[in-house]
Amino acid sequence: MTAPAPQPGIMDIAPYQGGRSTLPGRDDVLKLSSNENPFGPSPKAIEAYARAAQALHRYPSTDHVALRTAIGEVHGLDPDRIICGVGSDEILHLLAQCYAGPGDEVIFTEHGFGIYRIVARAAGAVPVEVPERERVTDVDAILAAATDRTRLVYIANPNNPTGTMIGGNELARLADGLPEGAILVLDGAYAEFVEGYDGGAALIDGRDDVVMTRTFSKLYGLGGLRIGWGYGPKPVIDVLNRVRGPFNLSQAQLDAAEAAVRDRAFAERCLAENRRMRAWLAEALAEMGVPSDTSCANFILARFADVDEAEACDAWLKDAGILVRQVAGYKLPHCLRITVGDEAGCRRVAHAIGQFKDARA
Ligand SMILES: *Cc1c(COP(=O)(O)O)cnc(C)c1O
Repeated sequence: MTAPAPQPGIMDIAPYQGGRSTLPGRDDVLKLSSNENPFGPSPKAIEAYARAAQALHRYPSTDHVALRTAIGEVHGLDPDRIICGVGSDEILHLLAQCYAGPGDEVIFTEHGFGIYRIVARAAGAVPVEVPERERVTDVDAILAAATDRTRLVYIANPNNPTGTMIGGNELARLADGLPEGAILVLDGAYAEFVEGYDGGAALIDGRDDVVMTRTFSKLYGLGGLRIGWGYGPKPVIDVLNRVRGPFNLSQAQLDAAEAAVRDRAFAERCLAENRRMRAWLAEALAEMGVPSDTSCANFILARFADVDEAEACDAWLKDAGILVRQVAGYKLPHCLRITVGDEAGCRRVAHAIGQFKDARA
């Protein structure tokens, strides 16, 4: 007997590989492999989460109005055009499920986030990968690849794992140039880290075919709790809400996220530290002969001389109890992605890379 066959496309999915989190036999592991906030979540989010334990017998809110209102207040957005999901991953999935099917094309870029290929395949659609220009999203390449079968274009801005981004004019040119019937999805998982950047919200407001996704997993330090959201034209949000599970988020998730987004002082402190230590780490590595593009996010993409050196450095760091991210799966086998930790973490990883370089010199 053979097992029942799944829908077309499913068996083409290579399971997502998360950042490693443990090293056998070590209890001093420094995890810089998943772009987590080194300061954890806001204490107010932890309090809200603990308080929610008193009402675990109650079903959660289905319309998420309290969290949507909070997000709307903080970001100056219409709460009726916000949808909350189990991580932004769920929003990315819902978009593919609702807007792409067999024969349709889903575009993403060469070094784009691995989830885009998965959601395209899961919907039975054809993933279309387009080149970047020196590790930066190439609007012309995307426009050249777009056809009348294009239903979705996913770009992360800033992108992971490159840390680079494109500006407002380029985003508008991309949105304007896409064929009718295609939705541009701006994955803003790292948008908070860019001063003065709205994640594409203003671009969305004048259009009916651009959506932005955001997350509580990075700046807000709630990756373990799984909360994300999307903002888009009302008709698109209405479509996604038909398919979204009515109880997709628990009350503990909703309450913690609301407390987190309202704690502006904590978020500002984390942002300031990220900026300070990101600059310090990039400069320290550059002085050792390990360059990186100017990062707009909470990680640095360190470039090594070749694949060998990157792999050897990864192994060296592991021996030192430090986990960073290999990005060969993102067509960057000569690079390592290093999350910006707290000051002690940044000093520790820089010191270890310095020792690695000295040992090889
Ligand atoms: C981390 C990340 C996300 C966030 O995923 P969640 O499901 O919200 O945890 C989305 N997109 C990119 C590019 C990311 O790096």
